[in-house]
Amino acid sequence: MDRRDSEDASSPAGLCGSCRNVRIIRADNRNIYYLCRLSAVDHRYTKYPALPVTDCAGFVRREPGR
Ligand code: SF4
Repeated sequence: MDRRDSEDASSPAGLCGSCRNVRIIRADNRNIYYLCRLSAVDHRYTKYPALPVTDCAGFVRREPGR
């Protein structure tokens, strides 16, 4: 199932920015990395996807406040 959300896709990270499957890593050098946790269990997903991600079958919207 492909999911797309034009509002989320307009953010710098695209869908990853609001996905429940992302782990956001803030490095000492102030860079921010978006690690896709699905990559650990599904080879179709890249550990660090090229951003912005605008279309992703694994996207699950993160609930507000989580
Ligand atoms: S499942 Fe897709 S949208 Fe979610 S973190 Fe992974 S690559 Fe990003």
